[in-house]
This record gives sequence, C-alpha cells and structure tokens, in this order.
Amino acid sequence: MNKVQFLEFKKLLRKAEQESSLYKNKFKEASFVIEDVQSSEDISKIPFTTKADLRGAYPLNLQAVSDEQIVRIHSSSGTTGTPVIIPYTAQDLEDWANMMKRCMEVAGVIKTDRVQITPGYGLWTAGIGFQAGVEKLGAMAVPMGPGNTEKQLQMMMDLKSTTIIATSSYALLLAEEIRKRGLKENIHLTKAILGSERWGDKMRERIKEELGVELYDIYGLTEIYGPGISISCGCNSGLHYWDDYFYFEIIDSHTGENVKDGEFGELVITTLKKEGAPLIRYRTRDITRLITGECNCGLRYPRHAPIVGRTDDMIKIKGVNIYPGQIEDVLKTIDGTSSEYQIVLDRNDAKDSMLLRFEKQKGHDKASLELAVKKHFKTKIGIIINTQALGIGELPRSEKKTVRVVDNRY
Ligand code: ZN
Repeated sequence: MNKVQFLEFKKLLRKAEQESSLYKNKFKEASFVIEDVQSSEDISKIPFTTKADLRGAYPLNLQAVSDEQIVRIHSSSGTTGTPVIIPYTAQDLEDWANMMKRCMEVAGVIKTDRVQITPGYGLWTAGIGFQAGVEKLGAMAVPMGPGNTEKQLQMMMDLKSTTIIATSSYALLLAEEIRKRGLKENIHLTKAILGSERWGDKMRERIKEELGVELYDIYGLTEIYGPGISISCGCNSGLHYWDDYFYFEIIDSHTGENVKDGEFGELVITTLKKEGAPLIRYRTRDITRLITGECNCGLRYPRHAPIVGRTDDMIKIKGVNIYPGQIEDVLKTIDGTSSEYQIVLDRNDAKDSMLLRFEKQKGHDKASLELAVKKHFKTKIGIIINTQALGIGELPRSEKKTVRVVDNRY
C-alpha cells in the first residue's frame, strides 16, 4: 500500500465511523479504535464487512451521506434472503463511469466502435454501468439488455456491432446460434467483454474461435459499484484493477488472516473513494490471487488472477476441497473434451459419490474419453469419480448463469 492509499484509508475510516451507522456499531462491537491503525500492517486489525452485514443494513442503513446527496440505488440479488441496497451519489456514478471507460480503453474500444450491451438493466447494475462507460468513451452504445437471441443477432448484423458485452454463457449461446445459422460472414464483432462468471480456457477458445473476437474478462460486484472494477488486458495475464479506487487484500477464508504474497484466497476489497455506501474490508467470497510484477502491456495498475471460484461453491467431497476452476483445468488438458460440464453429487449409505458430466467433441470415442477424465481427475485431485461424456449441446445452457453443481446429498 502506498502513502496516498494509506491516507485515503485513514480518511475513510474516520468518515465511516462518523457517518455510517453500520460502521459506528461495528467498530464499537469489535472494540476497534481508528488510532490503532498507524501503518498498512495494522489494517488487519479492522473488522471485516460481510454480506450478512449488508443485508442487516436493509434498506438504507449503509448510507453514509445525507439524503439530498443520493441520486440512485442499485440492489444485489436476494437469492438467499434479504437483498442488499447500495445508494450512490452523483460522484459515485461519475467514478464508476470513469472506471468503466478505463475498462473499455484497456479492451481497445474506440469512438467508432458499436457496443452491443446484453447484460440486464434495472435494479441490477450491470447494463447501465457498461452503457455509462461506453458513452463516456464516446463509442456507440446499443442497449439491448438480456435475452431475445433473434433480435440480438439481427441488430448485431444490421448495426454491424463491433463489440459485445455479455456473460460468458450467453456469449457461447450466441456463438453457437451464429454457427448453426451460418451467419458468421455477416457478423462484424472484433471484441467481446465477458464477465460475471468463471470461465475456463476451453470455453474461452470456443467463443473466440466461433465469434472471431478478442476476449476481455471483466470483474465487479454490485456491492462495489458493479462491473468494471478490473479487466484483463491484451496480454491475457490477469486483470488490472484500479488501485486509486480500491485496496485489495487476499485472506484465508477460514482463518481470516492475510495469505502470503501471490497465494490464492478470498478477495477482500476496501473502497477508497466511495461516498454513498463506502465499504471497509468487504469479503467478496470470490477466490483469486494477486499477481506481482509488471504487466507486458505497460499499464501501471496492479493485477489479480481470474476468479477461480466462490468460497461458497467450494465442494467438499471425501474430505477434499474442490473449486470449479480445478475441474476446468482437468478437462482442458484432455483432447476431445469441451468446456461445458456439470457435477452431480450424491450420497448413498453415508458414502458420497461424484459424477462429472462433460460434453465431448465429435469424432472422439465416448468410453475412452470417460476413462481418460476419470484417470486424470484421480491423479490431479486425488479422488475417484464417475464420468459421463455427452454430445455438444446436451448440457443445459443459460442466458444468465449456468448451474454447474447439482448437490443431491442434503
Ligand atoms: Zn496488462
């Protein structure tokens, strides 16, 4: 952490204690005093903020400025209970648009590009955040929103869209439709900015090949502005994040301790400039690592690795922790497998079993592929599983997020 960041951090702590009831209470309960933070090493003394804290602040207790300063709210999905409401000031929206503009620049988007935006608009932040960045840059936004593949393809051809923004599974679905209908000649895409999902190298290769585009991986979460807090560059060696806006830490999600430099763990984010709802040491539950050293692209912003999983979709089976990213790693080393897979967990007579279903490419033998994946899994991850090879397109696709784990054990 540099000196400027540290000063911003201290300023944030004081402001949060004065203005936010969440942090006022949190600091008091943890008997935390700001004066104890004398250097960046002391940051580990500050209590974490969790998703449960944000839910507990529903609807507007996260707000750390007066009502007249708030110009918009967004909400994160409430799939597991109370939603979280994030209030934004005009400056927050300006900052977010600036970050998104930077992302577009890293992806090489220029003023003459036409950017088809397929994430949703509304309470969930994605669509409108992309749009603000595209407009700030001066390119043309095509605000499609999600779904309606027919219309997406029509607009993509008629407007000669050059850039698509989508989840990786929706980009794959579009790529497959384009191939099926033989439309590739009429598509003018050169770049795809994909986010919000983990995606393995194989899926990446397929989207890249079938759409004929360069891919950029974008990251973000509603609690922290939305998408656009980091993006991969042309070097494909991690995602650059904006350290003038954020302080990133990686912790061991069991012990809460900071991990050693470069090790995998849970990403914890502090917002250095956010006004409406500043967050201090927010536990994202996303698993990644920080990458040290400079990137070949020349950007001075630091990097983190692509997200390999969520702390809560870590699967524990036969005493072994498995992240979905590891399964992608196994599949990508075996010739003839595709990027799509699904895991089915079962329990019989108190014994757990795992079935890995994956799609195979044409012309490869089903039985020998199943055996190869089984063997490789045993070698790399250490447990014996069952495998099932399916044809391309047999596993379910989604316009939103693909469900990869079916757990029938509980
Ligand atoms: Zn770079």
